[in-house]
Amino acid sequence: MRDYIIRGIDKKGNIRVFVATSTQMVEKARKIHGTSPTASAALGRSLTAAAMLGITMKGEKDTLTFKIKGDGPIGNIISVANNKGEVKGYVDNPYADLPSRSNGKLDVGGVVGKNGQLAIIKDLGLKDPYIGYTNLVSGEIAEDLVHYFHISEQQPSAINLGVLVDKDISIRAAGGYILQLLPGVEDEDIDRIEGILKKAKPISTLIDQGLTPEEVMETLFGEFEMEILDRKPIEYKCNCSREKIEEVLISLGKEEIQNIIVEDEKAEIVCHFCNGKYNFSKEELINLID
Ligand code: ZN
Repeated sequence: MRDYIIRGIDKKGNIRVFVATSTQMVEKARKIHGTSPTASAALGRSLTAAAMLGITMKGEKDTLTFKIKGDGPIGNIISVANNKGEVKGYVDNPYADLPSRSNGKLDVGGVVGKNGQLAIIKDLGLKDPYIGYTNLVSGEIAEDLVHYFHISEQQPSAINLGVLVDKDISIRAAGGYILQLLPGVEDEDIDRIEGILKKAKPISTLIDQGLTPEEVMETLFGEFEMEILDRKPIEYKCNCSREKIEEVLISLGKEEIQNIIVEDEKAEIVCHFCNGKYNFSKEELINLID
């Protein structure tokens, strides 16, 4: 089954829900970066969140960067998404790992760290990008994002992000959901949602049991008579190209390229997101200066 996201709204129009499956997307990220189980979970949760946030943007060229920087061993976690469902990402230290917690769960909060910031940068093609950020709460990512929505956008939400890593360290199941309470929601409905979420199994368990996003939405929030508004495939995709790398080199300026020529006589540029390698000979670098 391909990864995809559905977006739904309840009959009264007060509760908006996104549900994503992202098992293949996270597995591709793991293969590219060689992440440890805990790093796979941290990056996978971030990529899944970015995918759900990314599809809400209007423009085809808009990009959303979801960045987490805590004081744990994994360093920066960068995820970039667009509205076509294409997502890519990387972490500073893919080998960062910690022993599982006593309850058997991967210690994502430990590799990320509790002290630091979460930032969301939206490049909507305007002069300046929109940047919002908040402090981390736990480094578990879902909780940090709930806090972000609360502080930065005054948006009450409930979020679950999950990555289940198999014994051979491949990704067994991954996904997430974001529930947003819209203005006008009744206290009684909020109480019902809290009751549902208290009893709910983690999203990675539901996906591992074979539930589709539609079935997850029905299982969790069916009593609110959800209507599905749209359904969008998502995938891990890097859109780097030789032309784009050339543009980056040119943007460094004439002097910097001359320095590279003097020091190394050539350049090898590696894309952070897909590990694609781009080699430039001395002649090609001279051409770029021209
Ligand atoms: Zn790339």
